[in-house]
Amino acid sequence: MRIVFIGPPGAGKGTQSVLLTELLDIPHLSTGNMLREAVEHRTTVGRLAAEFMQSGRLVPDPFVVQIVGERLQQPDCEGGCLFDGFPRTLGQARSLDEYLTAAGTPLDAALELRVDEELLVNRLLGRGREDDSIDTIRRRFRDYVTMTTPLLDYYQSTGLLRTIDGSGTTNEVFKRIREAIGK
Ligand code: ADP
Repeated sequence: MRIVFIGPPGAGKGTQSVLLTELLDIPHLSTGNMLREAVEHRTTVGRLAAEFMQSGRLVPDPFVVQIVGERLQQPDCEGGCLFDGFPRTLGQARSLDEYLTAAGTPLDAALELRVDEELLVNRLLGRGREDDSIDTIRRRFRDYVTMTTPLLDYYQSTGLLRTIDGSGTTNEVFKRIREAIGK
């Protein structure tokens, strides 16, 4: 299966990604990790991406699309993959669709892990990390909503969006994800 996984910071997407990639036996494609690796290895894309990442801006679509396209050609992606942190823009979503459709392996689902802002604030404050102040959490959440709303509308319009209730225990959430993808 080819799945796009969308969720706000702190919603448990990391934990659920591990469970899901193990269940489906597919690689976990995190563009954040892939870009950091490219920067570290000073590849062409890495050198171009570095300044954007350092200033906390999105890396321009063509670079991100190129790095994902290269990764998708690796043999371990033949049976599917989980996209995490990608697509982040409508342009990326459209490019991904074009790429996968041309390859005859379209996306199966876009999973949205939905967590209410108040629940997220309570969960993250409970974690007690220093960068988890209420203001920071709320700002990150609002940025996430602004950034992902167009993507959610897009996947709604293509019929791929599955919204998962992210409240409750890890197992409860994972069960909902399995139901949503029929596994
Ligand atoms: P975070 O959740 O802190 O944004 P990520 O690891 O997902 O962390 O991404 C780190 C950085 O890599 C981002 O701030 C951005 O500069 C870049 N990046 C990652 N994924 C994308 C993407 N799909 N499009 C553009 N830039 C991206």
